[in-house]
Amino acid sequence: MPAPRTLAELEADVARDLDLTGHPRAPWLVAKTVGGAPALDVLIIGGGQCGVAVAHALKRDKVDNILVLDRADYGREGPWTTYGRMRALRSLKDMTGPDLRLPSLTYQSWHEASFGTAHWEAMRFIPKELWNDYLLWFRRITGVPVQNGIEAGAITPATTDDGLPAFRIETSEGPMHARKVLLATGQEGIGAWWMPEHIAALPRAFRAHTNEMIDFAALRGKVVAVLGAGASAFDNAAVALEEGAAEVHVFCRRAELMVVQPYRWLTFAGFLRHMGEMSDEWRWRFMSHVLGMREGFAQDHYDRVIRFPNFRLHTEGEWQAARVENGRAVLTTPRGEFTADYCITGTGVRMDAAARPELAHCAENIATWGDRYTPPAREANPRLAQYPYLNADSAFVEKRPGETPWISGIHLFGIGTTMSFGPAGSSINAMAISAPRVAAGITRNLFAEDMPRLYADLCAYDEKQVEVDAARLAAE
Ligand SMILES: Cc1cc2nc3c(=O)[nH]c(=O)nc-3n(C[C@H](O)[C@H](O)[C@H](O)COP(=O)(O)OP(=O)(O)OC[C@H]3O[C@@H](n4cnc5c(N)ncnc54)[C@H](O)[C@@H]3O)c2cc1C
Repeated sequence: MPAPRTLAELEADVARDLDLTGHPRAPWLVAKTVGGAPALDVLIIGGGQCGVAVAHALKRDKVDNILVLDRADYGREGPWTTYGRMRALRSLKDMTGPDLRLPSLTYQSWHEASFGTAHWEAMRFIPKELWNDYLLWFRRITGVPVQNGIEAGAITPATTDDGLPAFRIETSEGPMHARKVLLATGQEGIGAWWMPEHIAALPRAFRAHTNEMIDFAALRGKVVAVLGAGASAFDNAAVALEEGAAEVHVFCRRAELMVVQPYRWLTFAGFLRHMGEMSDEWRWRFMSHVLGMREGFAQDHYDRVIRFPNFRLHTEGEWQAARVENGRAVLTTPRGEFTADYCITGTGVRMDAAARPELAHCAENIATWGDRYTPPAREANPRLAQYPYLNADSAFVEKRPGETPWISGIHLFGIGTTMSFGPAGSSINAMAISAPRVAAGITRNLFAEDMPRLYADLCAYDEKQVEVDAARLAAE
């Protein structure tokens, strides 16, 4: 079937597809207030791909009284046009994602309508800027309401004026109220970007994390050391080389590089849909194996650096200590000392709810995997034990039941869900399956809390679907 020729034609297709699949169309939620102020049904914090995908899924289920907040400026949500230094996504280009499998909403449809089918066929991987453009188009065409430039702060419990559980959310524009909150706050959304303490202790002029904005032009002619051998480490090394660094050294902490991609293995429907329903033993076993391998770099990342003669790769290169000497950073590694002008750490994130302002009133009582499950000694991993242990609806669970029961109304979608559900929100390959699941967890709870009102509605329901001839009935 030929692809639509123009974006305008595609947009007409999207409108028609959304309408053709609009069943069931009946609204079923009633707007609430908290202390007289309007309350949203769902406030989504984070307007990256995860927040927008769940918002779209909610809208499809007629949950329209929602809002997505993002502290970033329009078009600057997530890594794609900010700290992401790859040229293209590592995901296969034909994956479905926030489209939730509606053909006209897929990346491919948008790409073909924007640049033509031949362009799509010639493209190997999706350039990150195009992915960002697609996400912006997606949220416009689906009508997902996003407000940029607003930062959400602490979440506290509240009650709607008719007695249902709700939240007050502090924001940079004043308080908001909502019945449910979805945290879609990205990689560091349930913790913080992390680097070894002795590197963090170096003066800022000597070090950065890959998630920071780095002045690479200032590294021209310098020796740059990068810690980590994941995709981001290689991307940062590549940019430093391209910007004219004298030498760039990537230090991999392990003895061998990670050259297989476990996320490729697990990209099949059974895993993506059902891993979250399996026993703790199996979830831990699979996900600790996957996350224990860490996500490696792809061929393109490697090719991008290896063509430079001033690039070096060091295995068993952990940075065990660091100091500044004669205006340079001296790193202690198992193979001796190494002196660099600048250090970049590609060491990822650490789960730590206490690091998040949104969770200031409940972080301490959010159950982690370490609270709920003790793996066999050979599978132990303290880093992964810090991941939140989520309910089946992707909401937080209490560490000590009864102290903060309201946290069951805060749902999570992002990398923090990985131990509980597999790569649910942290990667595009799972999104078409995981976003509707998270949305269903939210709608389930909205529905459950509305039982008395809905029952009263049912009892009062008197819309006739047939007019009976009462006089004739009486005569018979
Ligand atoms: C460099 C990089 C490359 C990646 N490449 C791929 C890839 O090729 N394929 C793949 O499948 N996955 C990839 N990922 C993983 C994942 O797809 C991305 O991290 C993706 O951005 C996750 O989407 P998200 O919506 O969870 O988070 P984000 O896109 O990071 O969006 C979160 C948003 O929340 C906002 N926010 C946070 N806190 C607040 C607050 N308190 N108030 C208001 N707003 C807030 C932020 O401003 C941000 O815009 C990559 C990740 C990185 C870091």
